[in-house]
Amino acid sequence: QWFLRMKPLAEPAIEAVRQGRVKIIPKVWEQIYFEWMENIRDWCISRQIWWGHRIPVFYCDSCGAVLALRQDLKECKACGGPLRQDEDVLDTWFSSALWPFSTLGWPEQTDLLRKFYPTSLLVTGFDILFFWVARMTMMGLKFMGEVPFREVYIHALVRDEKGKKMSKSRGNVIDPLRMIERYGTDAFRFTLAQLSVQGRDILLSERRIEGGRNFANKVWNAGRLTLSLLEDFSPKGVTSREFLPDAWVLSRLQSIVEAVRDGIEGFRFSEAASDLYQFFWHEFCDWYLEFIKPNLYGRVDRWDREATREVLYETFLTLLKLLHPFMPFITEELYQRLPAKGEESIMVSSFPKRRAEYVDLDKEESMQVLKDVISLIRNIRGELRISPQMAIQVFIRTPTFEHLLSEYAFYIKEFCRLEAITFGDWGTKAASATTRGVEIFVPVERYIDIERELMRIEKEMRRTEELIARLDCLLRNPSFMERAESQVIEEKRLEFLELEEKRSKLLSLKRMLLGE
Ligand SMILES: [Zn+2]
Repeated sequence: QWFLRMKPLAEPAIEAVRQGRVKIIPKVWEQIYFEWMENIRDWCISRQIWWGHRIPVFYCDSCGAVLALRQDLKECKACGGPLRQDEDVLDTWFSSALWPFSTLGWPEQTDLLRKFYPTSLLVTGFDILFFWVARMTMMGLKFMGEVPFREVYIHALVRDEKGKKMSKSRGNVIDPLRMIERYGTDAFRFTLAQLSVQGRDILLSERRIEGGRNFANKVWNAGRLTLSLLEDFSPKGVTSREFLPDAWVLSRLQSIVEAVRDGIEGFRFSEAASDLYQFFWHEFCDWYLEFIKPNLYGRVDRWDREATREVLYETFLTLLKLLHPFMPFITEELYQRLPAKGEESIMVSSFPKRRAEYVDLDKEESMQVLKDVISLIRNIRGELRISPQMAIQVFIRTPTFEHLLSEYAFYIKEFCRLEAITFGDWGTKAASATTRGVEIFVPVERYIDIERELMRIEKEMRRTEELIARLDCLLRNPSFMERAESQVIEEKRLEFLELEEKRSKLLSLKRMLLGE
C-alpha cells in the first residue's frame, strides 16, 4: 500500500481558508473543515481495483531498484533491466483532487488553464466537503500554487416536509423526475430556490411544488397578457411616467432588482425567490396590469398610451431577466416572443441593475394610498356581504388626498364597482372605515337589510363566544395540558386565537353597521 503524508499539504489549505482566500458558505462549515484538517492523518492512496490512474512506481527485478517516475520507462536507469509498474491504482478521490487543473490540460500551461484556474465558485454538498473540496484545495495549492476556487457554497439537504431524511424504506421519497413531469421543470426549480434558506435543510413536499406550479402559470399568463398589450410595439425607451402606476411600478422595480441581486450574491436564494414571487404576483399582476388595462384597451384616454407601453415593456423585460435564474424555460420562451429583445437568448442578456433615476418614493407613497383606499372599499363590501354585482356609492372624507383620489376616481370606481364617489360627509347612518387618514362611508341601508345583518352577526357572535369559552376552559384544564400531545395543544391554541380574531371582526362589523 502507498500512503500520502498529509500534514504538509493540509497546512497551506488551512491557512487559505483562515485568510479568506477560500470562503465556505454557510460559515459553520468552515469550523468543520478546520477540525478535519487539523486532525488529518496520512492517506492510503492505493487501491486494488481495475479502474483508475496507475500508481507511477516501477520495480526492477534485476537490481531491485524502486523508481517513482513521471514518464513510463521501459528500462531500469541503473542496470538497464526491464521495469515492471506497480499494479495498484490511485484512490478515485486522489484523481478527483486534481480535477480543477487536470481537466484543463495540466501539466501543460494551456490557455484554458490560464483562463479558468482558479475558478470563482464551487457548489456542492456537505458530504464531500472533506473527500473532495479539501483535497482539491490541497492539491491546487501544491501543484498550481493557488487555490482552485474563491467560494464554496454548501447547499442544503432535501428532506421530507416533516424533516425526515428521504428513504425508500420509509416511502417518503419525492422523485424529482416525477415532479418535473407533473409540475414542470421551472416550477420544481423555483420551489427548491424558494425553500433554500441558508444553513437549513429543505423540507420538500408536493404541496410546495404545487405552489411553484401555480406561480409558473401566473408568470406564463401574465406574459401572454403583456405580449398582447405590446402588439405592434417597438420600444424607444421610457419617456414619461406621468401616470401614477407607471411611476410606481418602475420605482418599486428598482427595489426588487436590488433585493434579487443581493439575495443571489449573498447565496440567500430563498429571499431572492420570495421577493420576486411577491412583487410579480401581488404588485405587478394584481395592481399594475389591472391599472393599465383601461388605458391600453382604450377605455380611458387621459394618459399617454405609448408611455405606459414603454413602462410595461421595461418592467416586464426586467422581471423576466430577474426570474431567469429561477425559471429558465418559461422566461426564455417569453423573451423570444418579446419585440426588440436585443440578445438572441435571455441567457446572454445582461442582468438588470438598479436604476436610481426611476426611484420616486413620493409616487410610491401616493400609489400606496390609492391601493389602500381600493382595498378598504373592497374589504367593506366583502364584510358587509354586498352582492358583487351591485354598484354602490361611497363617500370619502380626506384632508390631504382629495386631489389624488379624484384624479384616479375612475380606477377606484372600476376596481370597487362603484356608481359614484362623493367627497365630503355623509349625514346619516353609514358604514365607515379609515385608512391613512382617509375616511370612507358606505350608505349601507341602500344595499343590505341592516336589521337582518345585525341579527346574523349577533347569532354568529354568540356561537363564537361559546366556542371561545369552551376552548378557554380546556386550555386551563391542568389534566388536559399534562396529557395532551404538544402538537394538539398548539392546534387548540391556534384555534383559540383564530376565534378571538373572528370575534373582534364581528364586533367591528357590528359597530360599522350601527354607524358607531
Ligand atoms: Zn535495475
